Amino acid sequence: FRSKLPNVKTTIFTTVGNLARKHGALDLSQGFPNFDADPLLIELVAQAMKKGHNQYAPMQGYYGLREAITNKIQKLHQRMYDPENEITITVGATQAIFTAITAFVHPGDEVIVLKPAYDCYEPAIELSGGIPVLLQLNNKDFKVDWNAFRSIISPKTRMVIINTPHNPSGAIFSREDMLQLEEILRPTNIILVSDEVYEHIVFDGQEHESASRFDNLASRSFVCASFGKTFHVTGWKMGYCVAPAPLMKEFLKTHQFAVFSVDHPVQRALAEYLRNERNYLGLGGFYQQKRDFFLNRLSSSKFKFTPSHGTYFQLLDFSEVSSESDEALAERLIIDHKLACIPISSFNLDHQDHQLLRFCFAKTEETLESATNILNKL
Ligand code: PMP
Ligand code: GLN
Repeated sequence: FRSKLPNVKTTIFTTVGNLARKHGALDLSQGFPNFDADPLLIELVAQAMKKGHNQYAPMQGYYGLREAITNKIQKLHQRMYDPENEITITVGATQAIFTAITAFVHPGDEVIVLKPAYDCYEPAIELSGGIPVLLQLNNKDFKVDWNAFRSIISPKTRMVIINTPHNPSGAIFSREDMLQLEEILRPTNIILVSDEVYEHIVFDGQEHESASRFDNLASRSFVCASFGKTFHVTGWKMGYCVAPAPLMKEFLKTHQFAVFSVDHPVQRALAEYLRNERNYLGLGGFYQQKRDFFLNRLSSSKFKFTPSHGTYFQLLDFSEVSSESDEALAERLIIDHKLACIPISSFNLDHQDHQLLRFCFAKTEETLESATNILNKL
């Protein structure tokens, strides 16, 4: 056969995860918590199964869950999405993003992606025959240069993908950033895919500026979210996206033949759990404590860092620890020191190596303590 993705290798998360397991390393690589979800949420799934919600959910998702999402977005961002035709429940944010790209990108269309970028965007664009147009962010504060962004928009630009809070840097878009983006996109009919899976993990009193807050962004956006990230259940692969009705109608044409519908009892449980805002509003504070615990313990190490503004990732600059490539050091850390993290060069344009490693701090204090003990000895 002729590969449709000749240059794509196995994702870094699988490669590093496998190596970490093989060497029994402490795993701060792939982004998932090493503690369990609220027992109440798990009990709600069991109850939904016992009540017999074990057959297909409606194609767009269980209505009660869509209603709970409408209420949440209205409370947080003052925008009303109609649960009838503007919300779809998906297999994680990954399927929402994949489906949005598949449904709208035609062969030859350009799609703008800011690098470093989470690795699921570009292959999806290429499978649709689209052309990823990549803009590298600076490796200090990862702020977007909006003039540079404006200069790569062309008549062929079909879509822009943004991610705030940003994986892997932990940077977040300010209100000013969103207004700039809105102004640049205003005269175009470009579709925005806003990957907001870390929407509730924002630190130091800052706010998450969702695309749904801005009229001229919301009217062209798929805002994508993940219950896995928000409720510590990444293994459930549950997410959703919201978009104005005409966009969602087109999205559903693809969604219905990709998955038709997603896990029903879990949707029932999430609907009930989401109704209590205490179940997600404290998440930023919860993870900020972990970030601070991790960084305080590294204050006299040789690593340099700017504290993450959001997500549960922290980048560490290792330029004073080693002159190796990020991939070589990450491999040596696993094999010799039994600690796994993600080298981020593979997320950069042309695999640029800025000597940065990404650590996931969604871990117990015990794990973070052991990890920092290792890092402090380097
Ligand atoms: N986008 C980003 C930026 C992510 O870090 C992740 C990681 N899980 C996803 C999307 C995918 O989310 P999900 O697990 O809900 O598919
Ligand atoms: N989003 C998670 C991360 O960045 C991983 C998800 C995956 O393995 N695909 O670590």
